[in-house]
Amino acid sequence: MRCDVCGCESLEIIKSKGKSSKELLLKCEECGNIFRETIDIGKPLDCRVVVSEFEKSHKSFIKLYPDEILQFGDVIEVDGREAEITSLENKRGGRVTKSSVKDINTIWASYLDTPARVGISVDFSGRILSEKVEVNRDFEFVIGDVIKMGNLIFRINSLKTMERKMRRGFARAGVTKRVYGKPVDDEKFKHDLSSRVLG
Ligand SMILES: [Zn+2]
Repeated sequence: MRCDVCGCESLEIIKSKGKSSKELLLKCEECGNIFRETIDIGKPLDCRVVVSEFEKSHKSFIKLYPDEILQFGDVIEVDGREAEITSLENKRGGRVTKSSVKDINTIWASYLDTPARVGISVDFSGRILSEKVEVNRDFEFVIGDVIKMGNLIFRINSLKTMERKMRRGFARAGVTKRVYGKPVDDEKFKHDLSSRVLG
């Protein structure tokens, strides 16, 4: 939307009424022109959400407007609780990081009020040790960091998020599925996750 006098796009909404189509009274912040505009925002759609909590997940539906844009990391409300979007599947079956609601098939999310459970696989030249840790959702797994886990010290080589496999960078625990590492002799470690290992 832009001002019909000067073309400026920063507009103040003075009044708004209507549900599926909104009548707006707008004021241009540039020239002060006041004008009316009607926008069609459509009816809210029932959007399928698969929300996970630890190893369990369940399906739910939330109402969203077709032109709303959702992306990876956005917070939505599912069954009265806040959940973070961890992945979006569009109608062509692809995983995307951003999409408008009308193109979404399934939203994948996890509740924000529970810690993240992340798999750890440490590769001893072909023999894989797998564990699971429970950490704060904001904990960051950084590729290259050295982690202590009980008697084991390893360096993070790669990460698998809901979206992709990563060989550099970092990911928040909330969106990380698995951490891959190799053992190191290093005595210096950045994090000690020993007490976070699930039995
Ligand atoms: Zn204007």
